[in-house]
Amino acid sequence: MPITKTTERININNRRIINGADADVIQLYPMKHTFAWTAYAVGNANHWLPTEITMQNDIEQWKSRDVLTDDERKALKTVLGFFTTADSIAANNVVLAFYKHITSPECRMYLLRQGYEEAIHTHSYQYIVESLGLDEGELFNMYREVDAIYNKDAFVLSFNEGIFDPHFKTGTLEADQKFLENIIVFSIIMEGIFFYSAFAVMFGFQRQNKMVGSAEQIQYIMRDESQHLNFGINMINAIKEEQPEVWTSDFQDHIIALIRKGTELECTFAREVFPKGIFGMNEDNFRQYIEYIADRRLVRIGLPEQYRSTNPFPWMSEAIDLNKEKNFFETRVTEYSVGGTLEW
Ligand code: FE
Repeated sequence: MPITKTTERININNRRIINGADADVIQLYPMKHTFAWTAYAVGNANHWLPTEITMQNDIEQWKSRDVLTDDERKALKTVLGFFTTADSIAANNVVLAFYKHITSPECRMYLLRQGYEEAIHTHSYQYIVESLGLDEGELFNMYREVDAIYNKDAFVLSFNEGIFDPHFKTGTLEADQKFLENIIVFSIIMEGIFFYSAFAVMFGFQRQNKMVGSAEQIQYIMRDESQHLNFGINMINAIKEEQPEVWTSDFQDHIIALIRKGTELECTFAREVFPKGIFGMNEDNFRQYIEYIADRRLVRIGLPEQYRSTNPFPWMSEAIDLNKEKNFFETRVTEYSVGGTLEW
């Protein structure tokens, strides 16, 4: 987009998440969507790299015949099979579908950070697969081979076709709803629901003191992902505020139906991948947990709870709500949170 030479200043009131009136996507300040700047600061303070975490123990446990059961080996491979491609799908959506339609420079700042974090996550799975000497071809192709993974990914990817169309433009009711649907599918369903039974399984390993290096990486990933989800929710709510006309009752019903569909796909994933249950988590607890988190996501975007399930895995909240004082990551070698970054 060419720039116009002018002394006229940006009017902050015209800044929007999408369809900004004088769509200046270059001037970070003056800033309207301060939640994006906060998320950017949190992302920087949480910076980590997979290779900082030692995999020595995991390698020994994986090689040993008596540490992991066959079901645990299969579970680890299948959750990794989901993870290995999930963050690439998320990254592509951020860069190719979201970014160019977002007219808030501060939101774009965070999306740049988020895109990098998705790359770090894919790096992390690659590092685990390589360290354990797993078959890369098998793991990275699972999203096309294993029904439970394929069905989730195919569902999510079906929603960005319209947005990937080079002629797609926001600015009509229909297009803006399409765009909002995309944010909801990717943030709420993909990042907020589809990762969570796999996360729970990884913390199952951690709680048994098994594969702790892999689990620790997944814990960092979950911390990042909870920020991605948070940011997505803030964008959704900001669009609702800026363009209330998009949030019709038909559209709300449509979104509730999509989230219910996503919840079912995740329950099916847990049932098919862990038919005998794992670490004391069975089909019923998985369902209850997935319904519980789906309700929490719904409430945060102003939609009614659908399931009213209670949380059967309270230890998951502890794993997510990482507290900086708690020296959880004893193997951590680098501390990125410095001085000023924590004050924002
Ligand atoms: Fe993400």
